[in-house]
Amino acid sequence: MPATKSNCLLAQGDNAGLAIARAAQVIHDGGTVAVPTETVYGLAARADRDAAVAAIYRAKGRPDFNPLIVHVTDLAAAERLAWFDDSARALAAAFWPGPLTLVLPRRADAGLSAAVCAGLPTVALRCPAHPVMRALIARTSLPLAAPSANRSGAVSPTSAAHVAASLGGRVDLILDGGDCARGIESTIVAIRGGDGAVPGWTVLRPGPIDRDQIAALLGPDREVEAADGITAPGQLASHYAPGKPVRLDAGGPAPDEFMIGFGAVPGDISLSQSGDLAEAASRLYACLHTAAAALAPRIAIAPVPDTSIGRAINDRLRRAAA
Ligand code: AMP
Ligand code: MG
Repeated sequence: MPATKSNCLLAQGDNAGLAIARAAQVIHDGGTVAVPTETVYGLAARADRDAAVAAIYRAKGRPDFNPLIVHVTDLAAAERLAWFDDSARALAAAFWPGPLTLVLPRRADAGLSAAVCAGLPTVALRCPAHPVMRALIARTSLPLAAPSANRSGAVSPTSAAHVAASLGGRVDLILDGGDCARGIESTIVAIRGGDGAVPGWTVLRPGPIDRDQIAALLGPDREVEAADGITAPGQLASHYAPGKPVRLDAGGPAPDEFMIGFGAVPGDISLSQSGDLAEAASRLYACLHTAAAALAPRIAIAPVPDTSIGRAINDRLRRAAA
């Protein structure tokens, strides 16, 4: 369903060029633009200007201790903002452009607004694959800060209509690029410089790139526990909240529950009737939005296997239920 708000522009087909030019002007002037990525819709603003970054926090109602991911089009642009070691370069070579965010030591001359990193000495960087987001970054020639385009703590948006419902009047422009293919936020990996020894890695947030894929590249023996200083507040216990009680691992619904099925467990709707985890990830937030809007006062969700991207799905479901 396309969004109908007057500040929403179709960014597909013949309309894409004009829409992106208009969005780039808004970004250049310090405004906010909701834009599709392959993970979820992001709320973008120029990362080098305090007032623009402040507008993101204000629109989302986001606590200012929760730093933002900075988006660039390639590794060269990323290396102007952070220090890359061999591990970071290997991850970028393997998974960029794509749904992987790297948390790395920030360069002193990065030129980013201090609010982007919320006082941390690190910066979170991602090189997205979605053509609309890539075109917007390229057209502005700026690094773009972009958290998910929803009110803080609420369910993430995977369509322009979700953005319009959550943030409609609070953002300058929404680019409608259709539904997000992956549907779940990027995997966040922190690389931590070793004390003279080999650096370690930590998954701060599970996502479409599985921990096993990271381990295969960097070595499972170098996985380290997250230090107190490096946290991903998107990992707050309660997040992605649909505004109703959520019951997990349900075999079937109680009379007052809206049921989200998976595989052989049926429901009012299903994450994936065939039990396909990638399809389930892509439909997760759309299903939660539908359940939130349903008449039933409670939500029940079928069990989802805790393998590969199922780990990211269960991570989000636990926070939705918290
Ligand atoms: P969102 O933009 O809503 O997808 O959330 C971005 C996530 O990235 C949040 O969980 C942030 O805490 C995390 N993040 C951003 N920058 C950093 C950083 N420098 N260190 C650790 N986590 C970060
Ligand atoms: Mg978010």
